[in-house]
Amino acid sequence: MRKISLFVLATLTFIACTKQPCLENECLYTKSQTSFCFWSPLAEQMELRVYDDALTADFRAYALKKGNNDFWQTTVKGNLDGKYYTIRSCQNGKWEEEAPGIFAKAVSVNGTRAAILDFAATNPEGWSDDKRPQMTDPTDIVVYETHLRDFTMSPNSGISNRGKFLALTEQGTTTPDGLATGIDHLKELGITHLQILPMFDYGSIDETTLVRGNYNWGYDPVNYNVPEGGYSTDPYNPATRIIEAKKMIQALHKAGIRVIMDVVYNHTYNVAGCALGRVVPQYFYRLNADGTYANGSGCGNETASDKQMMRQFMVESVCYWAREYHVDGFRFDLMGIHDQETMRQIRAALDKIDNTILTYGEGWAAMAPAYPYDSLAMKQWTYKMPRVGAFSDDIRNALIGSPFDHERGFASGNTASRQALCFGLAGGINYHDNEFGEGWSGEPMQHVSYITCHDNYCLRDRIEVSAPEETEETRLRMNKLAQTAVFVSQGMTFIYGGEELYRTKRGIDNSYQSPDSINTIPWENKLKYNDLYEYYRQMIQIRREHRGFRLGNAELVNKHLDFLPTQTESLIAFRLKDLEGIDTAKSIVVLLNGSNESVNANFPMGEYVVLAHDGKADVNGLTTLSGMQIVVSPYSATILVQK
Ligand code: CA
Repeated sequence: MRKISLFVLATLTFIACTKQPCLENECLYTKSQTSFCFWSPLAEQMELRVYDDALTADFRAYALKKGNNDFWQTTVKGNLDGKYYTIRSCQNGKWEEEAPGIFAKAVSVNGTRAAILDFAATNPEGWSDDKRPQMTDPTDIVVYETHLRDFTMSPNSGISNRGKFLALTEQGTTTPDGLATGIDHLKELGITHLQILPMFDYGSIDETTLVRGNYNWGYDPVNYNVPEGGYSTDPYNPATRIIEAKKMIQALHKAGIRVIMDVVYNHTYNVAGCALGRVVPQYFYRLNADGTYANGSGCGNETASDKQMMRQFMVESVCYWAREYHVDGFRFDLMGIHDQETMRQIRAALDKIDNTILTYGEGWAAMAPAYPYDSLAMKQWTYKMPRVGAFSDDIRNALIGSPFDHERGFASGNTASRQALCFGLAGGINYHDNEFGEGWSGEPMQHVSYITCHDNYCLRDRIEVSAPEETEETRLRMNKLAQTAVFVSQGMTFIYGGEELYRTKRGIDNSYQSPDSINTIPWENKLKYNDLYEYYRQMIQIRREHRGFRLGNAELVNKHLDFLPTQTESLIAFRLKDLEGIDTAKSIVVLLNGSNESVNANFPMGEYVVLAHDGKADVNGLTTLSGMQIVVSPYSATILVQK
């Protein structure tokens, strides 16, 4: 084992100093020939198999020849459009099982064989004119996270291609009450980015039995560079999923919405069945001292971004999605398993394509990774990875409590988390000599402000388990207050899809394979809880209208944001001041009351427009106020702007 590791290290040092062929070019098709190229440093022999179709056992075998930098190559004459391939490697005299290449871009049903396609034929009409919607600053964005099935499976969605990529291409869909659903709903709500749960080819859904309607989040990657077949209308046709994923992105772009992919490079579905595990045994993973697979993901293995070719694989993969599919951002699952240098290199590579492509992730791991903590992309080191963001469990836990217990947070009456909430409201930076704690984000855009996502309880359920004795009316007040704090924070804002429709997962806090009946967004609630929906919609408009909430850099936050003294711990008051030239308002006052009693709040004397008060919000103003104090209702937010 030790011997192999040293050999790999020596090989890689050599590679790093030479011009490196791309992993992405493993299969280059033309009408007259297809060339193949695969990296495998320790193989003694490599074989390419070409199949006429996805299921036949017969193949033509080609011996691959070792060329420069441990890439094995061959060229096959003739038009291979529509054919399939696998490779296998022989190491220490033992042939591994066949697998698609690690950079397969098209695959058969369930991803067992790579497909050879003319990619030019996978572009929908108008694809060359597809443009990323305008974006100025990362703190301007409002991310909406959803799973394709959650968002579109309900019969009340009025959508035809339910659960498919094409569901998000349908215009004019409505609930039975005539309220907008689908892509029109997203436009109406005013979000800027749609973050989609894994849409690359994953392993937990059998694509040959889709009629059963099985559900999974999809955090189990098989082929990283191919869309998932379960979301296509025909997983047996390798081109269909590619065309339909592109059509979805094109439609979202036309609607002014950017698309963020949830990427899961931190582990593979399994080791024995995945190309990464078969083509270069062990290399792409971290191993424990005893030779077993390390398990920072909690899913049985963890990849090794610190190794040159895993790093290159990740860099090339995100760039491939950004170029070929026009993806606008990447959310890195368990980013804390990756090393910081890889994240910096990903950022640099994406900047060469378009520096508005977003990068952020979970700055933690499920278990301790087998790599030095100080070098990992953990939340604590976010400031060392410029323009890479991390989810803020600080603001989340401060507002609604930690997912590891049922305690309340500030929005449900627990003032103990007041300081952590202020830290999050300021965007996780070094604010005023670290008044609320040492900053971990270098800039506010690196602080993803959120309270809920697909993990753990959705907001309604979270508030129910931590405040079961309260009435629904009170819990709705807490809900609005918690989400308001996210929208007025200086970080990058993120909401979990369906919160605006008061979704419930009936107390299930890990719904990764729960049926649609648990996970589907209840479109019927758009009418039933229209007051809540309208509040969310207005809060998004208020954020987007006022640049004061998104000053965009740490220096401006330190200069313009002041926390005001309050008479009680359960009130947080802050003021965004001297906004001339930045905002249409001269100043903004935000008052957050996390108690069940009305609280008197003071602020500088002035003429104000009241944008939010007592559970209502209106970007154009609810009323006006002249003076220096107001009574803030129980569990609610008041927002005032001075014109
Ligand atoms: Ca799949």
